[in-house]
Amino acid sequence: MVEERGIVRLPSVKNKSVFGAAAGVMILLLNGFVTSCLWLSFRSMRFVKNSSFRLLLVLMVMTLIFIVRSHQSVSNPSWEQPTMGTLCHITLSGSIPKSELAALRKKIDAALVNVNRRMSTWQADTEISKFNAFQSLEPFPVSPEFATVVRRALELSAATDGAFDPTVKKLVDHWGFGPESDGDSVEEILKAVGWRKVSLRGDALLKSHPGVQLDLSAIAKGYGADAVADVIRRRGRMSFIVEIGGEIVADGWKPNGQAWRVGIETPDPAQPFGADILESVMLSGRALATSGDYRNFRVREDGTRFSHIIDPHTGMPAATDVASVSVLAGSCMDADAIATALFVMGSEKSFQWLETHSEIEAFFTLHMPDQTLSTRATDGFPLNEREN
Ligand code: ADP
Ligand code: MG
Repeated sequence: MVEERGIVRLPSVKNKSVFGAAAGVMILLLNGFVTSCLWLSFRSMRFVKNSSFRLLLVLMVMTLIFIVRSHQSVSNPSWEQPTMGTLCHITLSGSIPKSELAALRKKIDAALVNVNRRMSTWQADTEISKFNAFQSLEPFPVSPEFATVVRRALELSAATDGAFDPTVKKLVDHWGFGPESDGDSVEEILKAVGWRKVSLRGDALLKSHPGVQLDLSAIAKGYGADAVADVIRRRGRMSFIVEIGGEIVADGWKPNGQAWRVGIETPDPAQPFGADILESVMLSGRALATSGDYRNFRVREDGTRFSHIIDPHTGMPAATDVASVSVLAGSCMDADAIATALFVMGSEKSFQWLETHSEIEAFFTLHMPDQTLSTRATDGFPLNEREN
């Protein structure tokens, strides 16, 4: 599942600039050709008496201009677009024709809209909201994409002994992090919580308690990042970085020919996003996702914080020694869900779990009893790896 460790061998930057120069010369030649056509056609206009022939000439010239414009390239395009209540940032390495970029952006947009339309609990007309409102034990048919995410979510629930659990929706609402709340007690809510209370029969979902509701927020951003990466790869682009709300997939190399390097933040709520980088990790062919208690939390009357990550066994906000955990995995969907699970488990249980899951690497920032933070990582976590 996980790609070869270590630093990616980079193709020579010189080769890339030779290709860049060749593309530049081609565009110049094409531009010259069109300018000549324009000049010739306007000169010949005076001699063209037939008005339909004149129109035809103008149309031909306009088509040529269109072809040249659409073949103009953009270097290392980078953009962002809103999705899932956050932003998706995308950067591609290399030059890409404008028309190809426009088509790619359209596809990515469609992929993200698709994920939102299926997995957002904040809108009533999404697939997940309809399933949540369906208070029945009858099979509920879902799309193949939705079934894929739920299937993986249930597998990861089993693998983490329920530390990750997609049925926490009502608990998330109860603690003030969801779209609604019905005032039920935690004890009452727990009766309809538990990943074993949902199952898949083909592409239909089954509840074993009519009140079961799903929340895929801890896996959907990772799934979305994987989906965007797939769109990019299918279009033949192999060097890119995609990030949705801190969950990242990277492949290939940066525009300057070096490996992608991503930062892990100091888990400090006072710092703006990305302002204080604790460590950096080289990332290629894998995904990195982070869960923490420092971005999305509430403050009790006594001033103590509680996080949006819930321990599904107790129904209470998870309160372990973990301030943040960053997980490296083969897919962003897995990294996302596992980061949430390790946050719930706490460091001791997490390291026991990681011993039997050698394909996963993790980096923790931990709350120490003396109020300081310390860090701990699995041996294979690629901290401070140098490029050569
Ligand atoms: P972030 O959304 O900040 O990336 P996570 O990936 O850890 O953080 O997802 C946390 C969200 O997932 C919560 O806001 C909540 O909607 C949901 N959630 C909370 N606790 C759990 C849990 N134990 N298992 C699965 N989902 C959870
Ligand atoms: Mg997560």
